[in-house]
Amino acid sequence: MDPNVLHNLSYGMYIVSSNKGDLLNGQIVNTVFQITSEPVSIGISINNKNLTHEYIESSGHFSLSILDQRTPLSYIGKFGFRSGRTEDKFKGTNFIRLQSGCPVVLDNALCYVAAKVVKKLDCFTHTLFIGTMIESKMLKAGVPMTYDYYHQEKHGTTPSSAPTFIKEEAPGAKKEVAMQKYRCVVCNYIYDPAVGDPDGGIEPGTPFEKIPDAWVCPICGADKTQFEKAD
Ligand code: FE
Repeated sequence: MDPNVLHNLSYGMYIVSSNKGDLLNGQIVNTVFQITSEPVSIGISINNKNLTHEYIESSGHFSLSILDQRTPLSYIGKFGFRSGRTEDKFKGTNFIRLQSGCPVVLDNALCYVAAKVVKKLDCFTHTLFIGTMIESKMLKAGVPMTYDYYHQEKHGTTPSSAPTFIKEEAPGAKKEVAMQKYRCVVCNYIYDPAVGDPDGGIEPGTPFEKIPDAWVCPICGADKTQFEKAD
């Protein structure tokens, strides 16, 4: 079996949010799909260990913010590589709360959908929550970010807690003779000198050693000391 086959499945990039009373949390999810049109029902896969899972179980609802292709990596990192157990992800984030109490993230979102959970399926490490749409709104025009775009164009990575994580997604998997790449030990982000980090003000062609010490991992915020050679 070749697990790389699974890289050919297509996904999007979303923030799924929910609440437990006045406690709010949200996380990046790529496994989201519409199941039926009448009623409009949507499925999402959430890791059983995630705080968002606990909140969806508690409230019986979730919202889905569909991310703009131009969403910066740092924003995806905030919702994708950090836990709501150790920090309030909604601090500094533009969001609303629906009548149901469900939070909806607005920053970098093209539109949102809110759903009420009607079924759930225990799937090993994850739960497939199925919800019917109770609210939706367009926020702005734009191109939704696909999972492929996130990986290929933004050089984003996947945390091991994601349903689509593949162990063989190894750092330095693409061998090429080039400037030394560096890997973030916290989130597996690869700094590729040929690409730089334009969102973070680092021009393409900048060797890792020349990056200012104040620079941090564009995905998880780790500092330069948390990087190692990616070979
Ligand atoms: Fe990182």
